[in-house]
Amino acid sequence: MFRIIAKSLKTGILTEPQPFTARPPFGFPVIDFARCTACGECARACPTGAIQVSAPAADRRKLSLSYAACIQCRECVTACPEQAVSAGRDFEIAAYTREQLTHTALFDIDGAGRATLRQLEAQPGPGLGESAARLRERIRGRLGRSLHVRQVDAGSCNGCELEITATANPVFDLERFGIHFVASPRHADLLLVTGPVTRNMEIALRKTYEATPEPRVVVAVGACGCSGGIFGERTYAAVGGVDRVVPVDVYIPGCPPRPQAILNGLLVAMGVREARLKPDGQATSPEPAGAGIAVRGRAPVLALARDAERA
Ligand code: SF4
Ligand code: SF4
Repeated sequence: MFRIIAKSLKTGILTEPQPFTARPPFGFPVIDFARCTACGECARACPTGAIQVSAPAADRRKLSLSYAACIQCRECVTACPEQAVSAGRDFEIAAYTREQLTHTALFDIDGAGRATLRQLEAQPGPGLGESAARLRERIRGRLGRSLHVRQVDAGSCNGCELEITATANPVFDLERFGIHFVASPRHADLLLVTGPVTRNMEIALRKTYEATPEPRVVVAVGACGCSGGIFGERTYAAVGGVDRVVPVDVYIPGCPPRPQAILNGLLVAMGVREARLKPDGQATSPEPAGAGIAVRGRAPVLALARDAERA
């Protein structure tokens, strides 16, 4: 007993007081579309089809990058002859829809085959400002309610589970945000689902969803949960992304997402649930700076947790 106390005193407090300030060494690729020539080398190198190049007209080319399908292998970074792709360091990559996780750029192609950036397509999500405001309010108010989470492995390789487990360790300590894991969906507010839903798990996931009381929130974790990832969709063994089976409220991409990214996504989901519990409530603050599509730097989605901590 004394040894345990002595060891605890020696170890001190490990919990990271600002878990959202430490940046990971690398994250999702960021394309500098101003330098991009839409040559398509990155798309050819991408193992998951996260980067797509198409030609909607003879003098147009379209390049899109989907974080939902990206496994952060950085093959595109090495493949780009223009050095227009770099590894970003953001982890606040949670979104309300798959489309929000996609950057798209349209290029004009001249007679000599040179590409010039014409426009970027932005897809802001529904209710983004409202949810962000609620989240900030909630953090400021020291989380009056807690969030009970049931994790569902619908066919994951367990990489995502390792990172989810890390959110509960003394460093990230998700319980300080009022978030707890529970054993039964009947006790849960939120389902945290990983994996490309395998055919064997499809019915189990549907039943778990039905067993969770309203207003339930579903969060898809990992490239597999967001889009089928490296395993693809509609194969003999897997249905694909979680939204092919049950409605998804928040997407947390990555292969696997870092604990901070999962924590950030859960806080975003907390805002979604809050909005459902009080659908007539008014947002009290404007949409956070940085929410929305960014070509460089911040990811095209929600930098909510970091903004909330700063508030
Ligand atoms: S980092 Fe993502 S977008 Fe780039 S090649 Fe790998 S999977 Fe494709
Ligand atoms: S996203 Fe990556 S780590 Fe997570 S289940 Fe799929 S392959 Fe595994």
